[in-house]
Amino acid sequence: MFDVQKIRADFPILSRQVNGKPLVYLDNGASAQKPQVVIDAMTTGYAHEYANVHRGLHYLSNLATDKYEAVRGKVARFLNAPSEDEIVFTTGTTEGINLISYAWAAPRFQAGDEVVLSIMEHHANIVPWHFLRERLGVVLKWVDCDANGDLDAQAVIDAIGPRTKLVAITQMSNVTGTVVDVAAICHAARARGVATLVDGSQAAVHMPVDVTAMGCDFYAITGHKLYGPSGSGAIFIHRDRMAEMRPFLGGGDMIRDVTRDLVTYNDPPMKFEAGTPGIVQQIGMGVALDYMMGIGMANIAVHETALRDYTRDRLAGLNWLNVQGNSATKAAIFSFTLQGAAHAHDISTILDKRGIAVRAGTHCAMPLMEHMGVGATCRASFAMYNTVDESDKLIDALEFCHELFG
Ligand code: PLP
Repeated sequence: MFDVQKIRADFPILSRQVNGKPLVYLDNGASAQKPQVVIDAMTTGYAHEYANVHRGLHYLSNLATDKYEAVRGKVARFLNAPSEDEIVFTTGTTEGINLISYAWAAPRFQAGDEVVLSIMEHHANIVPWHFLRERLGVVLKWVDCDANGDLDAQAVIDAIGPRTKLVAITQMSNVTGTVVDVAAICHAARARGVATLVDGSQAAVHMPVDVTAMGCDFYAITGHKLYGPSGSGAIFIHRDRMAEMRPFLGGGDMIRDVTRDLVTYNDPPMKFEAGTPGIVQQIGMGVALDYMMGIGMANIAVHETALRDYTRDRLAGLNWLNVQGNSATKAAIFSFTLQGAAHAHDISTILDKRGIAVRAGTHCAMPLMEHMGVGATCRASFAMYNTVDESDKLIDALEFCHELFG
């Protein structure tokens, strides 16, 4: 039984005040707050169980290694990946996508080869492909969303041509909350021999993810949006793609032997993890995944869908507010501007005075902002611990802004 008040009690920061008002944290799209179990796991990790992983033969090193390596299985379960050997640890989605760009794509792509992208991508899933455009002459092929913020999966599939090597696409827009039918795209791409990379940064925290059913080749997640520590993350890499990858970062842990004349590499996934990793961060992410799986991703989705419906209806009643993207299946992420009124930064500052944390700006998604014809928006992004009462506080504060500027 999903009990939002019980969940809120697990997050110590939610009981603090900001500017003399109870915190209303609606900036989850940027980063989520951490439950006490994650904070405790990290404190214990540093206070009692810390040592470097993989290399030691002493008690603490083995303990840290066991706890760290156990997270691979947790990520595999969370994503329903066939094997934990297909999980590579990263510092987050940005590193995960760059890893694929450097280790898989760069050695294989040639001038004129194409990467299909949606206009809704975060810069983390754009800039690594621009690198290949700049260095190799790879062509970026863009697929637009419609005025409602919906992305037609068939339009993405139709963009796949004889030179397409990769479709790199988000499962959920961090600006509009639009959910993309990535399974349809991945299956169609696979049938055409084209690889797929799915940016799961936003989706994985709001809905159950099943990379096996989805049929993707790469699926990137970032720990800090999943109620875990910043600097943690992982990427699912299909074993066939992993076999095609060259090592990217070189150093300790990723090698088997190093001599004056040559080097041989560790087996995957460690072949792609060089140097001392974020040991305690990954352990913290594992606890966060356990926490979410304990609640149940389907239960989380039901709660957040109700929050979305409630907030969407109330926002629709404000005829001086422009909400960007109103897809029927969107998540509880709302980007908006006030008609003819203040800049998004001013609105977020006023909201902040009432203890309400939202984000304002271009949300690392400049091509989408340009496509939608907006310079900057405010974004209220909900999480499993948010309530209808907090939604009301947001609306009250927006009405105040309208009176002030309207
Ligand atoms: N992709 C999406 C859709 C995001 O929302 C974000 C973060 O905002 C990222 C990628 C980048 O994640 P990170 O900065 O954790 O690497």
